[in-house]
Amino acid sequence: TVSDGENADPRCTRQNSVSSVSQSLREWDIPYDDLDRGEVIGRGRFGIVYSGNWHGQVAIKELRMDYVNDEKTLEAFKAEVSTFRKTRHENLVLFMGACMKPPRLAIVTSLCKGMTLYKHIHVLKDKFNMSRTILIAQQISQGMGYLHARGIVHKDLKTKNIFLESGKVVITDFGLFNVTRLCHDSRRGNWLSIPPGWLCYLSPEVMRNLRVIQKQDDGLPFTTYSDVYCFGTVWYELLCGEWPHKGLPPEAIIWQVGRGMKPSLAHLQASRDVKDILMACWSYRPDERPEFSTMLNSLTRLPKKRLHRSPSHPIHLSRSAES
Ligand code: ATP
Repeated sequence: TVSDGENADPRCTRQNSVSSVSQSLREWDIPYDDLDRGEVIGRGRFGIVYSGNWHGQVAIKELRMDYVNDEKTLEAFKAEVSTFRKTRHENLVLFMGACMKPPRLAIVTSLCKGMTLYKHIHVLKDKFNMSRTILIAQQISQGMGYLHARGIVHKDLKTKNIFLESGKVVITDFGLFNVTRLCHDSRRGNWLSIPPGWLCYLSPEVMRNLRVIQKQDDGLPFTTYSDVYCFGTVWYELLCGEWPHKGLPPEAIIWQVGRGMKPSLAHLQASRDVKDILMACWSYRPDERPEFSTMLNSLTRLPKKRLHRSPSHPIHLSRSAES
């Protein structure tokens, strides 16, 4: 099989390359009936996630069927699958294949055994010490740096999509945002539907492009830079144990971020270097945000212990996190 995209032969026509993509996608096709579907793990915008068995334990992400009604959705789904199959990194969930025959569309990945960072931070209110916090952030940077090096934008990096498995970070859901958007019929009402906890991950340039009626063709301008902004928010959550913009109504968050105002650091007791990373990730200008390779260096240089530690505040000043 000729591999797609990476074919350097200039004589290779576009048609050849399209057919080789379909050919190579077929190699990842899993007949739905081969899956032994188990219990529902959870529901998201994308659809329902089941645990299951396919040559071992897997997670099966099934697309919501009520929205898979056109060729465009199917094509978007296949495009995401072709992105997924290019990823091999220990901090990224293992893509195993996909069911690509309508009406059953699903993505099959390894089953993450641990809990998400969201659950650790916002539900269980777990406190990580500084060296663990840095280790987690380093692994996220490694996985994200790899994705960007492969030309993949995550588009939805958030603590709900980061698992912690015996200390190892596993990032999920990269590149699925387009499918989610297509599945989510946002054109019906005259309002903007905002999933809870989503706004604080949106960079100013993405925020400024939110529309009450989002047309299918004008997708939000997610880039590697907007992924770095998301990382800033994750870094804040790790350090503070809560969301940035806590307590602000959505309208105020949209207005403030869109105008270039950064979230308050009132809840963050940390050294200058720690705050600098945050501020750099949240830069208004996308090109002023650091790349993940630079971030990794900055994180490695951070002192593993807090410098100006107050005995009554081991790491977090406040733990009154929203759940
Ligand atoms: P949103 O749709 O807003 O992104 P979400 O991240 O909770 O929200 P999903 O990604 O669809 O939605 O996940 C639904 C549930 O399935 C979540 O509880 C998530 O932690 C879990 N889940 C997703 N992928 C896996 C996986 N590979 N292994 C184990 N659990 C998973």
